[in-house]
Amino acid sequence: MYKETKEKNGVTRIVDNAFIPVDQSNTDYQAYLQWTTKFCEVCEGMGVYPNLTTQMIETCPSCKGSKLNTPIPADNGTSPLGQPV
Ligand SMILES: [Zn+2]
Repeated sequence: MYKETKEKNGVTRIVDNAFIPVDQSNTDYQAYLQWTTKFCEVCEGMGVYPNLTTQMIETCPSCKGSKLNTPIPADNGTSPLGQPV
């Protein structure tokens, strides 16, 4: 799993908190690009995810229905809904 940086100059690899710059010659960046073109691990490429609590089928929280792996958006002090975190 990866997370975008605030500056959009790269991504952070969650597992070891390593910064990966946008650099086509960087092997870590190449691995990141490969990861984004693979099916989402959470919903296994379905784009939807069964919420076992509500027993409803919901848009996958990880890929937001894109069905592919997507990085976690950078923290900008507010949530996507504009509410303080
Ligand atoms: Zn997904």
